Amino acid sequence: MSKYTYIICGKLYNGIDAEFKEGYKILVKDNKIEAVGREIPQPETAEVVDLSDATVTPGMIDAHMHMDYIDWHTIREEVYTTSEEAKTIAIIRTAQKTLSRGFTTVRHPGGITSNGFGVLDVKRAIEKGYITGSRIVAAPRFLCAAGSHGDLSQGFARNPELSNIAQNLRLSLGAGKDFFVNAVREEIKYGADFIKIMATGGFFTPYDNPSQQQMNDEELKAIMDTAHEWGKTVTAHVYSVDHMQKLIKFGIDGMEHCSLMDEETAQMIIDNDVYVVPTFCPYEEAVHYDPVMIQTKQEEYRIKLEYYKDALQEGREVIKNCKCKLGYGTDMVATHQNYESGYEFKAWMESGMGTFRTLHAATKVNSEILQLEDKIGTLEPGKYADIAAWKRDLMTDPYALLDCAFVMKEGVIYPTEKCEELTD
Ligand SMILES: [Zn+2]
Repeated sequence: MSKYTYIICGKLYNGIDAEFKEGYKILVKDNKIEAVGREIPQPETAEVVDLSDATVTPGMIDAHMHMDYIDWHTIREEVYTTSEEAKTIAIIRTAQKTLSRGFTTVRHPGGITSNGFGVLDVKRAIEKGYITGSRIVAAPRFLCAAGSHGDLSQGFARNPELSNIAQNLRLSLGAGKDFFVNAVREEIKYGADFIKIMATGGFFTPYDNPSQQQMNDEELKAIMDTAHEWGKTVTAHVYSVDHMQKLIKFGIDGMEHCSLMDEETAQMIIDNDVYVVPTFCPYEEAVHYDPVMIQTKQEEYRIKLEYYKDALQEGREVIKNCKCKLGYGTDMVATHQNYESGYEFKAWMESGMGTFRTLHAATKVNSEILQLEDKIGTLEPGKYADIAAWKRDLMTDPYALLDCAFVMKEGVIYPTEKCEELTD
């Protein structure tokens, strides 16, 4: 017998229209949405959920979360001091915590600490119902080169013998066209949903910088051609406009960060139908310059934030005003715990992105980036009943997405938790 849930919404954002609708109800039948509207019949057997004091939205989606660590303060130690099994436990814990925060789907663009495929085991265990947690879309291992942003052994680069041993633990790290062609095929063989590459340097790693191209043209092109031959998309970690433009020419599907954006590149992104997940959170202290907070960062990260702060501010303005397809992703490795996905809402609000553009990014746009737009991302009949609700005012309160009041995934209601750092 079918199970019905009848949800009474105070306000409703459906993932499509840039407005809050009032007086709406949602009828859930088993794991799917059956009807959404003002006048929908209430089956006698339905469980009634009264959210008349809340704003109901689709379950949120975070498109950039490295799930495989326990605490951002110890992330670098966790790379080398915990086992792959412990890293898989961290992924399970993250998936549970994101679900309880109203983020029913998470995209994992490569393990920071892990070098294996535990994220796929967790994904499958959640899909089978063995454990509970957010739905996962994953690129288990990012592809990268020696000394690159993806090579965490650069932390011991002043001890080459040790660094070399550590470097060799990362099996998706290598050089040459043939290595990367094989690496793409292996990722797909083991179950990757998409391919993630570290195309350029980064902020968080000690001995590289965001302006370096860290894979050569032949390697980049080989990765994209191979992934596309096998029917998978590729997204890249990238900052500067010359690298973004090169990746677009090679056929990239999406790009992460893109923080040093200019108008010409934004137009090229639009013309080539590339998506961008701009991940505002890690750069907040530089964009809204806060020298006190920057002082709390690891030294090499702090120095780079200071050096690039004007360019980051200009890039943020371009991103704010562009018409690119923007996804919502946090990339917390040095600011908050990875599962506190609601902070990106605060960052978007404080950059003047507007409530509906932000919610649209975290729902419908992200469902398209994850290639799940026929299943999730909007509140429409036939979609999975992934539903969240929020009691704070989404128009005015930057902390609104850090305080989840209700969450349902595929028709099942789960307990909620608010952000551990919220005091009121
Ligand atoms: Zn990342």
